[in-house]
Amino acid sequence: MSSRKFLIHIMLAALLLLVLGSSVAVAASQPSKAGFDRLANRLANQELVPSNQKQTNQALAKLRALLPPNDPGRRFRYRYIYCDFAFSNDAKAGFAYANRGLVEASKAGDASAAANFELCRGYYNGLLTTPRAELADYNAAIVIARRLQDPRLLGDALSARGNIESLLGDQSKALNDFLDADQQYRSINLTTAVEVNQLNIGISYRRMGLYDKAAQYLLQARKSALRRANIDTEFAAAIQLGYLYSAQKRFAEAITAHRRAVVLAKKLGDRESMGDARLGLADVLNERGDYALVLKTLVLAKADFIAVGDHSEDGMIYLYSGLAYTGLGQYRRASRVLDLAERYLQHGHNLRYLQMLYTARAATYKAMHQPLLALAAYQQVLSAQQSLLQMAQAQFTTWMHYQQVAQKRKAEALLLRTTAANNRQRLASLERTRKWQGLSLLFGALLVLGLLSLMVRQISKTRQLRGIAHTDTLTGAASRWQTDRLLIKEIQQARAKSYELAVLSIDLDHFKQVNDQHGHAVGDEVLRRVVKSCQSVLRKGEKIGRVGGEEFLIVLSDIPLEAATRVAERLRTDIEGLTLDEVVPGLRITISIGVAALRLPDEDVQSLLQRADAALYQAKNLGRNTVQVDAGKAADGLTDDGRPAGSQAS
Ligand code: GH3
Ligand code: MG
Ligand code: MG
Repeated sequence: MSSRKFLIHIMLAALLLLVLGSSVAVAASQPSKAGFDRLANRLANQELVPSNQKQTNQALAKLRALLPPNDPGRRFRYRYIYCDFAFSNDAKAGFAYANRGLVEASKAGDASAAANFELCRGYYNGLLTTPRAELADYNAAIVIARRLQDPRLLGDALSARGNIESLLGDQSKALNDFLDADQQYRSINLTTAVEVNQLNIGISYRRMGLYDKAAQYLLQARKSALRRANIDTEFAAAIQLGYLYSAQKRFAEAITAHRRAVVLAKKLGDRESMGDARLGLADVLNERGDYALVLKTLVLAKADFIAVGDHSEDGMIYLYSGLAYTGLGQYRRASRVLDLAERYLQHGHNLRYLQMLYTARAATYKAMHQPLLALAAYQQVLSAQQSLLQMAQAQFTTWMHYQQVAQKRKAEALLLRTTAANNRQRLASLERTRKWQGLSLLFGALLVLGLLSLMVRQISKTRQLRGIAHTDTLTGAASRWQTDRLLIKEIQQARAKSYELAVLSIDLDHFKQVNDQHGHAVGDEVLRRVVKSCQSVLRKGEKIGRVGGEEFLIVLSDIPLEAATRVAERLRTDIEGLTLDEVVPGLRITISIGVAALRLPDEDVQSLLQRADAALYQAKNLGRNTVQVDAGKAADGLTDDGRPAGSQAS
């Protein structure tokens, strides 16, 4: 197996392990930030609503398993979710748990967790103590949530507070909080929370007497509940629609709604809800004059409440049966039952029910021919009505005030949002344009710079190359490369045109001594002067090339060997006579030259140069300052004895 294949196998195996590992992790609910957040969000956003204790426990266990270690923020989150879900049967334990969480979150400086524990504590506070204590917790949560600008938290806290305000009869405050919560949830597209809150808003509108608005929200709530198959919410929407239609005197629709509520409560197995729905049904049936059915329905309702040990609705049962007996003309019975009802209802201070009671009682007394008692009852009806009216007016005024404030706040927020969005958009597009402009400018500049530097580099390189290639920088003689090219070219021409060609291989004598005695700079200067001197001897088109440190080559074209030898001789004598006093007084230099002529028709460059170098070597051996002609050509009659011809200074 090649090492590359082996590597690929290793990588594939690693990938497989990774995939397997992650799937095992998912299956076993290993701690995971993303997994934890997902489940926590689903629970918080009411996308996941456990319908019984078993499901609740399962969800909490799974959340606990997903909780990453050493993550204080998520640990707190787990704890306040646990707080909300785990203590449905033990409010005291829930309260203690919330309290502990609140203390610890505050100490840890986790404001968000603290607010969530406040919410949880408020809930148990409501079950254990008073709505006022509950309200205080929600108020604290709202303050924190506003400071944190956390829409979900704020929405939760506001809707929690709204529920208590509604319970305390502060409908306008409640409505205001619910509508505020609605805005918070919508701002972060928390659809589920928006849907759940719709019910709250609908109830508040109904209690405020704003029936059209109430209908709009309650129907919407029912629609969402149906879509999500949320029976709890569907039940609540149904019973609320029953109350609403009843108030609107749309009795047939009210009966349908309450009957549906009874069915849904049965489905939920919730006796208390069944009782509530039956009570609502009885109310409507009374209005319709279906008194016998009222009494039957109330028997069932009473059984429902008794089944769960709930006696809080006894007053209402007495009231509705009293109304039914009145309707049936059983005045004595009615009177007795209404007296019982009054005792319960005066406790609750529910003026609407008291008004109903007094009305029925007045009718009873009138029928029983007790005009004074009837008159007194009517007066009670009137005062209840007056109080109700005053209350409604007060509510309405407060509501209008809230509405104005909310409208103003909404308008301001909208304006701010729009302006901010506009500005942001303008800024973004400006920045985009500027960025692109800048980028393209930068790129353009970079490109130009790059091209320029490339060009400059190319030019200088070419120049340098050409310079290096063509000329020797120290002496100005042709470079070795150029000399070789020239030689090849000249040889080709000589062959083509069949003319003679000779090369002179030149080496400075004892040049090392010059360097040693006078320094390298002097040696350089000597080299330059030698080249200059040689160049002055050469004809146009002839070049001296530097082929080594102090070795030169001259190619002489279209020239017989004798003439070439004469040129060599001239060069030698010139250098011999060259005064270098300006460089170093008394300095002299000589050169040795090997001459060789090209053998036509097919001698190559190497061979020619070798023969010239051999002649030079001989010249050196012969004592230097000598021109030595290569033997090959000498055989052609330049010397008599067959030895290379040479001229030597004396
Ligand atoms: P010979 O007569 O046998 O040629 O003796 P030489 O001293 O010239 O011996 P050789 O050719 O071996 O030495 C060449 C010297 O040339 C060695 C080196 O110091 C010198 N040389 C080579 N190139 C340069 C150069 O560019 N500048 C200078 N100043 N000296 C150079
Ligand atoms: Mg040499
Ligand atoms: Mg030398």
